[in-house]
Amino acid sequence: MEKKELIIKNYMEDIAKRNREEQMSNRTDICKCDRCKLDVFAYAINHLPPKYVVTDRGHIFTKLQEMETQFNADVTREVLRAIEFIKSHKRHE
Ligand SMILES: [Zn+2]
Repeated sequence: MEKKELIIKNYMEDIAKRNREEQMSNRTDICKCDRCKLDVFAYAINHLPPKYVVTDRGHIFTKLQEMETQFNADVTREVLRAIEFIKSHKRHE
């Protein structure tokens, strides 16, 4: 039997990360430093349900695209809320 390395993964994190990159790169009115990018990610992921899946490394990409289609509307909404929140609650000077 072929041995596959199985991992457990929260796909919501990957979807949120990609969505954040996309939305933040389109904005000119916000700070895009590492701190603010992480703050936006943390805020968004705290407001989204985790989607844990057991998978082998080879299937991550296909599964991610599937779930992205399914959850993108929710993720887009939460990432947008996160951007607006961090914009008005910046954690640095
Ligand atoms: Zn910043």
